[in-house]
Amino acid sequence: MAGNWKMNPATEQDAMDLSESLTKLLGDETCPIDDENPLCTEVVVFPPHPFISKVKEVVEDAGITIGAQSIYFEDKGAYTGSVSASMVKSLGCEYILCGHSERRQTFGDDDQAINRKVLKVLDSGMKPILCIGESKAEYDLNIKNEVCAMQLSKDLANVTKEQMKEVVIAYEPVWAIGTGLVCAAGDANETHAFLRTVLARMYDDDVAQETRIQYGGSVTPDSVDELMAMPEIDGCLVGGASLDADKFGRIINFKT
Ligand code: 13P
Repeated sequence: MAGNWKMNPATEQDAMDLSESLTKLLGDETCPIDDENPLCTEVVVFPPHPFISKVKEVVEDAGITIGAQSIYFEDKGAYTGSVSASMVKSLGCEYILCGHSERRQTFGDDDQAINRKVLKVLDSGMKPILCIGESKAEYDLNIKNEVCAMQLSKDLANVTKEQMKEVVIAYEPVWAIGTGLVCAAGDANETHAFLRTVLARMYDDDVAQETRIQYGGSVTPDSVDELMAMPEIDGCLVGGASLDADKFGRIINFKT
């Protein structure tokens, strides 16, 4: 379960308050997934870059992992305003969002740039969460599957089968993001199943079955249980509701 805070909250103090509420609320309910805790829900939060270190200090004892919302694919140099993979890794980030639709739309990240970011994250020893999904117009044209398949093939170019163990996919239909229009659980499940057929074609059945695929787009405490009951949905990437500790706490403790 991942919380993408986007460009929120407004101040470092607000970010600390949110982290503290979340940590208190969760108590022992989260723990890192490892051989001893195979059934735990892995929880990751993605604060804005300036808050990463402080938020990590607060949430790590509750077993919550930290990620970064974006990186640039170059290692260093004259790229004003950008941060590198090594910078966020040195702050303890384990996951990086790549290809979020807001990055694609507002900041012009194209598939080639997204692919370079995915490869850089992997080369740096972190895990990309590759976000894909169709726009409203593409949904209406009934080309959702084609759009998602194309994004997968371009954004994962040159990613090896071995590296796919570290890759998470987030299916986020653009029309569902921030709109309150959550995708029907059955439809999301069908799309996830389709994405697995694409991964099977690109790699093999093992990769298709073992890759974690999250759903994102207006996930709330009201919709999470039905989504998580679907066999092809392995987790959620939550935006707005992750800014409310009570709501995110309920989402983490989904019931199927
Ligand atoms: P909302 O949950 O606010 O729709 O945002 C989803 C999202 O974009 C997560 O990355």
